[in-house]
Amino acid sequence: MARSKQPAPPTATVATTFPSAEAVDIAQLVEDLDGMLSRLRLGAIREQLDGLLEEAARRQLNLREALAWLCAAEVASKEQRRLSMAMTIAHFPFVRTLEGFEFEAQPSIDPGKIRDLATCRWVANGDNVVLLGPPGVGKTHLEVALGREAVARGYTVQFTTAMELLGSLVKGQQQGTLEVRLAQYSKPKLLIIDELGYLPLEPQAGHLFFQLISRRYEQGSVLISSNRPVEEWDEVFGDQVVAAAILDRLLHHSHVVTIRGDSYRLREKRRSGLFRPQAGGSSSSGIGGTPPPTPAKEA
Ligand code: ADP
Ligand code: MG
Repeated sequence: MARSKQPAPPTATVATTFPSAEAVDIAQLVEDLDGMLSRLRLGAIREQLDGLLEEAARRQLNLREALAWLCAAEVASKEQRRLSMAMTIAHFPFVRTLEGFEFEAQPSIDPGKIRDLATCRWVANGDNVVLLGPPGVGKTHLEVALGREAVARGYTVQFTTAMELLGSLVKGQQQGTLEVRLAQYSKPKLLIIDELGYLPLEPQAGHLFFQLISRRYEQGSVLISSNRPVEEWDEVFGDQVVAAAILDRLLHHSHVVTIRGDSYRLREKRRSGLFRPQAGGSSSSGIGGTPPPTPAKEA
């Protein structure tokens, strides 16, 4: 007995109609293609189609090569848009890069350590980085440069100052929106907190900061800079117990970079003779211990 015919396995067929060569209406084809590219959100291909096709023809690419060429243009354009949007969202105060950092000007920094941090493995692991040093030695520059590296690798980054962050949390507490604000600052994979210790904090700031650091602990990375050594953070937060609890979490999986040296800003001025060199030449100074520059006598 003949076995009953098995039904054909389902196939994912796409309804495609190819017009015969004679029937092609070029104007209609161009319009349809434009619409399809829009619908598929292939904006770069759509906008540059004529140029890309001409270039593909000039290079005598076969169909597969031409398709890869078009896709590469779309991917590059999408990546560029993602980058510029992520940079905007990160709120960096200025553009600084690692290429623009003169390591010779700051010998206390190990370039290998910074280049290693630039790989962003620490961000992938949820580790923290603490940058310590007196004003003008390049802490914010390095924060922005490392932040940009993290954005380039696809991580969400937010840059803020300690004052802005803590001001926002204090306000949140007063207005009953603390939870929303803590959640907002917990979201980015890397939170950069600039300039802790420069200005006095509100009494409850330490406790609020502790709440944020606890939330981010082992989840997302914190890159924080301060002009005060960690031993002085109990003074910064005005509470020894809170400062110890913050440091316990912050330093558990962390890389600490201590910069000792002169302000880069004042270097140029010293060179031009506007300021006298510090006593003992440009030897390194402790954190926060850079004496104010001495104005040079009028010649
Ligand atoms: P800090 O945050 O430690 O106070 P900044 O990062 O704001 O210092 O540095 C002050 C200025 O000097 C910035 O414009 C920064 O780009 C520049 N700068 C500091 N150190 C260097 C360096 N080693 N190479 C190049 N520029 C530097
Ligand atoms: Mg700074």
